[in-house]
Amino acid sequence: MKAPRLEIKLNQLQHNAKKLIENLALQGISITGVSKATMAMPEIVNIWINAGIHSIGESRIENIESINKVNNRVRTLLTRIPMLSQVDQVVSQASISCNSELSVLNALAGAAEKQNLRHGVLLMVELGDLREGILPKDLNEVVKQVMNLPNLELIGIGANLGCQNGVAPDQKNMNELSLIMNTVEADFKIKLEWCSGGNSANLPWLTAGGKPDRLNHLRIGEALLLGREPLTRTIIKGLYTDAITLVVEAIETKLKPTTPWGIQYQTSFSDAPSKQNQKSNDDRNEIFDSRILLAIGEQDIDPSGLKADGIEIKGASSDYLVVSSSQNTLKVGCEQRFSLNYSALLRAMTSPYIKKYFVN
Ligand SMILES: *Cc1c(COP(=O)(O)O)cnc(C)c1O
Repeated sequence: MKAPRLEIKLNQLQHNAKKLIENLALQGISITGVSKATMAMPEIVNIWINAGIHSIGESRIENIESINKVNNRVRTLLTRIPMLSQVDQVVSQASISCNSELSVLNALAGAAEKQNLRHGVLLMVELGDLREGILPKDLNEVVKQVMNLPNLELIGIGANLGCQNGVAPDQKNMNELSLIMNTVEADFKIKLEWCSGGNSANLPWLTAGGKPDRLNHLRIGEALLLGREPLTRTIIKGLYTDAITLVVEAIETKLKPTTPWGIQYQTSFSDAPSKQNQKSNDDRNEIFDSRILLAIGEQDIDPSGLKADGIEIKGASSDYLVVSSSQNTLKVGCEQRFSLNYSALLRAMTSPYIKKYFVN
């Protein structure tokens, strides 16, 4: 197998999906599998559908387009609110989109009417994380307008916490969402399909005995892929955390002084000098340590999101990851395995330089 590569265990991803579907069903919650960190990799999307995931969420319309090419029956949700400039593509490719702007909703309705399609709308409300969403006080006016627009179908009300400011879903803000759902349904005499409470960050609250009330839907990515919740990155009981791992190859392995020498300025990926103290202008440190260069860099991964036992990450530039190894056994040509966090996974999946292999 080539390096660098991601090794993907589809059977473990399938286990994670089945387990989460099963656990959440006990609380009356169904999930949309959010595949954006994998660029909607068809093998993963298919494994999720086989496991019982009823719809796929994606932030980029291009990825929804590629899902449709492989599986044009699955329901799709555009999780990022649409650009005004892409409404034609959004209604032709996505079954539903998250929305918070009336001008976009107007344009979506126009595009849907022109193409003679119906398009689903999930209206996002702001509950405190300060990313996308309509302020609760403005929601009824938007609902009213959406109900009057042609070819749009209001699927439900949603919220997103945890991503921008790390605000945790809790009983208070989730009760607020349930109340909003009740109010909209009562005021407009309608029944909505989804009360979409959030993402993987909702899992700790639910596991700790949270009462979902009206909440019946979540959009889940990280927990399915990495088996962790995103607030404290705690492992979710019963899920695999190493279904996807990164393998890279060593290209220089030497013992070098532990500190740089010479006068230090900005580094290639920071406007601050390297954190490693310089000894003095031309005085070389006499203490030596293993210094290993791996053939991967900022272009392919988020170096702060990689972990391996016995490996300390010293830094990275575009094409090199510099580490030291406590075992000192890594030789040129040897491979080193890392676990990834969400940000490292996202970049690795997006890099064409990292090969993707399915293993068992
Ligand atoms: C990315 C995203 C999700 C999925 O988040 P995870 O933390 O990966 O579960 C859900 N909803 C929206 C709106 C998103 O942008």
